[in-house]
Amino acid sequence: MIAATDSLNAEVWHRKIMNGYWIVLAFMLIAQVLFVLCADQLRLKSSPGTESGYLFIASNILIVICVASAEIWLRSTLQYNKQAIVGCGFIISYLFYFVIEPFVDGAQMALMMPIMISLIYFDRKLLYTLGLFSIFFYAAVYFGLERVYLKKPLLEFIAMEFVFLLFLLMARAVIIRSKETGEYLEQLTKSEQGLLVERAISDKLLKIDALTGLYNHKTFHEYLDSLLEQCENNGLMLQLALFDIDNFKRVNDTYGHWVGDLVLKEVAAKVGGKIGLNDFAARYGGEEFAVIFTDRNCSEAYSAAEELRLTIEQMEHPYAGGHPITVSIGLCRYQLGDGKEQLFRKTDDALYQAKRSGKNRVVTSSVDPQEANILSYGRI
Ligand code: GH3
Ligand code: MG
Ligand code: MG
Repeated sequence: MIAATDSLNAEVWHRKIMNGYWIVLAFMLIAQVLFVLCADQLRLKSSPGTESGYLFIASNILIVICVASAEIWLRSTLQYNKQAIVGCGFIISYLFYFVIEPFVDGAQMALMMPIMISLIYFDRKLLYTLGLFSIFFYAAVYFGLERVYLKKPLLEFIAMEFVFLLFLLMARAVIIRSKETGEYLEQLTKSEQGLLVERAISDKLLKIDALTGLYNHKTFHEYLDSLLEQCENNGLMLQLALFDIDNFKRVNDTYGHWVGDLVLKEVAAKVGGKIGLNDFAARYGGEEFAVIFTDRNCSEAYSAAEELRLTIEQMEHPYAGGHPITVSIGLCRYQLGDGKEQLFRKTDDALYQAKRSGKNRVVTSSVDPQEANILSYGRI
């Protein structure tokens, strides 16, 4: 992903540099025309004579060809674009130099272009290559042309080479600093991500019961409060089921507390794993679990609770003497206007009924007495 973004950015910068070449080229051509037209008024350091005129024209044509070739390369292939852009920059910087040198003091500044381009790419290798190449190439230009034909003083050459070196070192420092900044930002992002993960974990720990992995009592109440609000305002259907493991004290007393813990874990995992996507299971306390069914009518919620009861009954617990572990379940549909307290009172009553009538069953506290009859004594 990062690599893809990098190459995307590189493409954008190839384009920007290419546009820069075109702009510089346009300015330079316009400037030359103006220089030629106004040479006398401007009192230039020199003006092109007829013998050098052809050389200027040839240099200009070469610059246009070079920029156009780089443009075609950029448009037609996705490979070696950086090299094409940088190579073009290097060639045109020297051609620019040849063209403007007779007219402009400090024309050597045009030769800094390749170093500046490698700075744009933040490419240290490219910087060293271009920097050293510039130093040697300028030496060749000076000793091969400028010293012989223009009689330029050696001091100017030395000064120029120093400027090259200075630019090279400064560009290197900028690239190193940018790398340091990048690394610092990366570290910052990583530690921020670490903090986010830590926060997510501690958020989870605050919401989850450590033994069973189900939601804890506090989260259950928070969630129920928000759901009851939805029931009152938007008519959401909600049923609350309270599960209580039957004779759990006996499990603890007979097989030990740690076996009791194991049973709790297994029963919780079963409840959590079997409820639907719209349902919510929590460890309500001790050996009691609460399940909120939403978007189910009475008989659907009853069937779901009954299925859970049956599945729990069928679980095997060899470490607990192979005896089945059963649960009693009180189930209640939320009646508009009841509020949380009433809902709990009714559900608790239903659970109490389930215990009193023999345990291992689902008892529904229903407003519809007929429905209540069918479901309350439905031990299957
Ligand atoms: P009933 O069928 O009436 O529910 O009988 P019961 O023995 O399950 O009922 P009671 O509420 O008297 O006992 C619940 C026991 O659950 C008491 C307590 O020691 C045990 N218990 C509560 N929390 C834990 C726990 O985290 N781990 C273990 N191992 N036992 C627990
Ligand atoms: Mg209990
Ligand atoms: Mg119990």
